[in-house]
Amino acid sequence: MPHTFSRRMDGLRSSAIRDLLTLTARPDVVSLAGGLPDPEFIPRERIRKEAECALADPASVQYGETTGLRRLRDVLAAREGARIGRALDPGQVVVTHGSQQALSLLAQVLLDPADIVVVEEPAYTGALQVFRAAQADIRAVPLDRDGMDTTALQELLEAGVRPTVVHTVSNFHNPRGVVLAADRRERLAALADRYGFWVIEDDPYGELFFDAPPPPPVATFSDRVIRLSSASKILAPALRVGWLHGDRAVCEAVELLKQGADLCGSSLTHQITAAMLSDEAWLALHLDTLRTRYGARSRALTAATTTTFGNAATLSDVKGGMFCWVEFTDDTIDTADLLPTAVEHGVAFVPGSAFGVGADLGAALRLCFATCPEDVLAGACERLGSAYLAHAQS
Ligand code: PMP
Repeated sequence: MPHTFSRRMDGLRSSAIRDLLTLTARPDVVSLAGGLPDPEFIPRERIRKEAECALADPASVQYGETTGLRRLRDVLAAREGARIGRALDPGQVVVTHGSQQALSLLAQVLLDPADIVVVEEPAYTGALQVFRAAQADIRAVPLDRDGMDTTALQELLEAGVRPTVVHTVSNFHNPRGVVLAADRRERLAALADRYGFWVIEDDPYGELFFDAPPPPPVATFSDRVIRLSSASKILAPALRVGWLHGDRAVCEAVELLKQGADLCGSSLTHQITAAMLSDEAWLALHLDTLRTRYGARSRALTAATTTTFGNAATLSDVKGGMFCWVEFTDDTIDTADLLPTAVEHGVAFVPGSAFGVGADLGAALRLCFATCPEDVLAGACERLGSAYLAHAQS
């Protein structure tokens, strides 16, 4: 018997990146595709110690509060409050199963089918999946080197488009690598206040700056911003600890849905995360290491890509995060077609088209510099160069 699923399932497709992760698991392929932190930089010893400590407390193996361990919410409220320059009550913080769950719950809380959601293009694919599942009417505004083009957003609004939600990855964008400029943050917040939409400020990469911290969050400037962040890129993805903070009524609605989604998160990983995030001296040192090491890798990848492609490609100016966006000047190339040849040559990337809503991003691709050391990145770029030549000649 064929199955019939809900209408919600009609428009859904598998994430190209999740699919690629399987394809590129081959040991002979260097994958610059997934946004995976290097396991070398994941503080496993510290996690082991904190897990041992937590296990001495029976509460760590018990169900917990739906909104997350109180001690963790206290630490997060203090850290996030300091970033947005005003006190945050722990009741305005919900700990989620990664920030991906925060996105998914927020979409269910805020959106009815056919509601308009504005995303940046290229867009974070995980957000596209969530908004598609919510049956939203997805519109895109372009990104440039200063992040979301807020003038384009304003034009959309002035033309009468009324979004319920605007999604932005404000720091070290996935996939584009750029940072939303300070004046655009204020402008976006002002537009949210004026037109009454919610901003979802999705920020898992803000701590991974190489030189200077990014400007204050968009959430600094408006109460209509729900801010999301995560322990995945700074501690470990496997903790599955993300969080959102903002409007109390939104937090309460998220809590209600989370009760039905998973009852609560993992008391064990909440305790581990709370211990690590509240050890400020250790955390500062750890973040410093990540910033230095990822910074060196980003520079190595930029240098290798420039050497390999010269004028044939332009690169994003990366100042943090994990990703570099490469655009080939030959716009007849489709990097989705280049990918199989690249995998044959032993390197994988994510084709630009995976991040598109309507625009043709076929001449672009995303590289992640976080997973491999500098020499491997350089070798991977050479392989990519050979694949590019082989593809051009075929
Ligand atoms: N938002 C963005 C922009 C991301 O890049 C990611 C991870 N790829 C997430 C959210 C979700 O991360 P996590 O669920 O691990 O916190």
